[in-house]
Amino acid sequence: MTDIAIIGAGPGGLITALRLHQAGMTPTIYESVPELHPLGVGVDIKTVGTRELDEVGLLEEFRAISVDAEDSIFFNHHGQEIYAEKCGVHMGYLHEQRFVHRGYLQMLLYRTVLERLGADAVVHGARVVQYSQDESSVTLDIEHRDGRTEQVRHEAVIAADGIKSAVRKQMHPDAAEPHFSGITMWRGTTLREPFRNGHTILHIGDPRVSSMIIYPIANDFEGTGLDLVNWVVETNGEETIEDWNQVGDISEVVPLYDSVDIDFIDVQQLMRDAREVYLFPLIRHDPLDNWVDGRVVLLGDAAHAMYPRGGNGVTQAMLDARVIAEKIVEIGDPHAAFVAYDAVRREAVNRIVMASRGEGYEVIRRIVAERTDGAPFDDIEDVLPLAEADEIFSSYHALVGAPRPGHEAGEATGYRTWETGDAEVGARHD
Ligand SMILES: Cc1cc2nc3c(=O)[nH]c(=O)nc-3n(C[C@H](O)[C@H](O)[C@H](O)COP(=O)(O)OP(=O)(O)OC[C@H]3O[C@@H](n4cnc5c(N)ncnc54)[C@H](O)[C@@H]3O)c2cc1C
Repeated sequence: MTDIAIIGAGPGGLITALRLHQAGMTPTIYESVPELHPLGVGVDIKTVGTRELDEVGLLEEFRAISVDAEDSIFFNHHGQEIYAEKCGVHMGYLHEQRFVHRGYLQMLLYRTVLERLGADAVVHGARVVQYSQDESSVTLDIEHRDGRTEQVRHEAVIAADGIKSAVRKQMHPDAAEPHFSGITMWRGTTLREPFRNGHTILHIGDPRVSSMIIYPIANDFEGTGLDLVNWVVETNGEETIEDWNQVGDISEVVPLYDSVDIDFIDVQQLMRDAREVYLFPLIRHDPLDNWVDGRVVLLGDAAHAMYPRGGNGVTQAMLDARVIAEKIVEIGDPHAAFVAYDAVRREAVNRIVMASRGEGYEVIRRIVAERTDGAPFDDIEDVLPLAEADEIFSSYHALVGAPRPGHEAGEATGYRTWETGDAEVGARHD
C-alpha cells in the first residue's frame, strides 16, 4: 500500500508521516489551518517518546529544543516535600524523558516532513468534513479556506484530526457525548531564572482543593539566560469550550497558593509573571470500542482523547505511529493492517485514558493531606512511609507501559531530600 492520506498535521499526524516515509511511502497530509504556528504550552515526552524521535532520526534536534527531565518532586500545600523520584535515564530507563514546548516540537516535525516528503506533503487550509469508501479506495470531502470544495481519493486514510475529530464523529455517531468533568485547567508559561538544577518537575498542593505542576521547557530560552517554565493549575471550575487556544485569567486561582512556601520558587509570582495563560476544561471522551472502519482508521487524540495530565498524549500518538507503520509494512492490506494496529494499541491506550481521569501517582498528595488533616507534618515517614509511596509509583509506571527499572528486584527507587537523590538506578529499560 502506498497511497495514504493523513488527516491533521498535529504531532500525531506528522510523526506518522515520517514513520510511513521511512517505510517507503509518501502520504499526503490534509490540515485545516492555513498555516501552522507553534501553539500550545509544555508537554512531557516520556522515555519511549524520546526513543520514537530517535528512531525517526531527530534525537539531536529534539534535544536542542527540549529539557532533560532529571527529578520529580512532590510537595504538600505548605511546601513540605513528600516524595521524589528520578526521571528518564537518571532513573535507569534507556531513553531520556524530556520537556518541550508542544508548538516547537510540532514545528520540528513539520519542517522534517517538508524536507523528507517534499514541499507539497501538507495541504493547508483543507478541512476534511466526511469520508465515504468502496472496496478499493476512500473519498474525502474537503472544504478549503477559500470556500472551494473538493473530493480526493486515496487507498487508505489515517485520521489524526485531534480531540474534536470529524472522522471519529462519523465513525461513532452513537458514542457517548463528551462531558465536562468539573475540573478546569489553567496552563501558562513564564520566563524566569532557572529553579533548582533547571531540570526538575514540581507537583504541589492539596488536590482536594487545587494542584499545580511546574517544569522548565527550555533552558536559556532564545539566549536570554532564562528558563521558559511551564505551569499547570487544576481546580474546580465552570464549563467552557474545549479549545486549546482559549485565553484564561489566573487572578482568582493565585490566592489558592498563599500557604505554599518553597525556598527556591515563589509559585504565586510565577503565575503572576505569565507570558500567556490558557484555560482548558477537562472533558471526558469515553474510550472507543473500535478505531477502524474499512480503510479508515483513527490515531492520536482522535482515537484516544485523554485528560492532558500525566504526560501521555503526545507520547501515545508517537507509539500509534510506530505500530501503524509496522503493521502496514508487515500486512499490506489496509483494512487488515488497521485491524492489527487496533488490536495492539486500543486496549492498552484505553487503560491510560481511564487512568488519566484518576489521580495516578499524584494520589500521594491527597493521602498526605487526608492523613494530616491539612496540617503541616513533623516527619513524612510517619505520614506516608517511603515504601508505600514507592509502591504507588511503581504500579502507575507499570500501568502506563514503562515499568520502573529496579522495581522487579524490589529495590526502593524513590527517595526523599533531593539533595542526596543523585544515584543512577538499576538496569536500563525502555
Ligand atoms: C493548538 C493546539 C494546542 C495544544 N496544546 C497542548 C498543550 O499545551 N498541552 C498538551 O498536553 N496538549 C496540547 N495539545 C494536544 C496535543 O497536541 C495532543 O494531545 C497530542 O499531540 C496528540 O496529537 P494529535 O496530532 O493526535 O492531535 P492535535 O495535536 O490536536 O492535532 C490535530 C490536528 O488536526 C487538525 N485538524 C482537526 N480537524 C481537522 C479536519 N477536520 N481536517 C483537517 N485537519 C484537521 C488540527 O488543526 C490539528 O493540527 C494541543 C493541541 C492543539 C491542536
